[in-house]
Amino acid sequence: MEIKKVMVIGAGQMGGGVAQVSAQTGWETVQYDINMELVNKGIGVMDKNLSRNVSKGKMTEDEKKAILGRIKPSVSLEDAADCDLVIEAIVENFEIKKKVFSELDRIAPPHAILASNTSSLPITQIAATTRRPDKVIGMHFMNPVPVMKLVEVIRGLATSDETYQIVEEASIKMGKVPVWCKDVPGFISNRVLQVMINEALWELYEGVAPAENIDNIMKLGMNHPMGPCALADLIGLDTILSILNVMYEGYGDPKYRPSPLLKQYVQAGWLGRKTGKGIFDYSK
Ligand code: NAD
Repeated sequence: MEIKKVMVIGAGQMGGGVAQVSAQTGWETVQYDINMELVNKGIGVMDKNLSRNVSKGKMTEDEKKAILGRIKPSVSLEDAADCDLVIEAIVENFEIKKKVFSELDRIAPPHAILASNTSSLPITQIAATTRRPDKVIGMHFMNPVPVMKLVEVIRGLATSDETYQIVEEASIKMGKVPVWCKDVPGFISNRVLQVMINEALWELYEGVAPAENIDNIMKLGMNHPMGPCALADLIGLDTILSILNVMYEGYGDPKYRPSPLLKQYVQAGWLGRKTGKGIFDYSK
């Protein structure tokens, strides 16, 4: 199957990035969110990213216009009716994703692949909410999507080899490196990463050192480009809490139990960069 038209569900941090890369690949791209304000906000971020590329001489103004011209704003899931690939990037909540996937299954053509950018929710369980579990797969992009090379491709229990091959090829066309893994809670990336971030949040909770020190130790000592506290704020503390809960329940292992401080930040609405405050303050 040749992919010609893609729909991206969610115009937040991840969905906006995926839609940008899809349009850059040359595909007609529908960018959906629940209201036009959110869709336009996502397209505004894309516009800024692309303008930065123009000013750095990485692309011409005409190329930027052509990319944005391939984006079709949408607030209706019915627009999936003529898409070959749908990539979902909405909140990390199974009940909400379930509703969207059963709608997409009803609307999208029978050949269409339904992919989820979920960070941790079981692809097998998402697939089971549709009548095409063989065509459901995880495409786990990294943040920021236009910059990061990896797509972790998650094969659910029912995902067919054909679906995997199409998604592998599509990821390469998008300029990414696909790396597959089986469908286990947290997949490979978040099983390793979130345990580290959670441990940093436990250290913060215990008052071992301020966040700056934790980050400096990991940056200067382990050569991490970003410390775990700054990375947590970039990912979003609500997303991190959801991922840890999925792993805690999925494995029944206390090593995944979220730090009480993480829960408290989320309760306060301090979700990180996206709300202007998380572990660090971004209001200035
Ligand atoms: P976000 O909060 O920035 O954006 C989510 C968007 O989905 C919002 O704009 C929201 O309005 C929209 N949305 C569309 N339909 C919706 C519906 N029916 N109900 C609720 N919201 C709806 O979140 P994000 O950081 O872009 O994360 C999106 C997905 O990507 C999550 O599954 C997350 O786990 C995953 N992910 C996130 C990161 C990261 O670093 N943030 C990395 C990889 C994967």
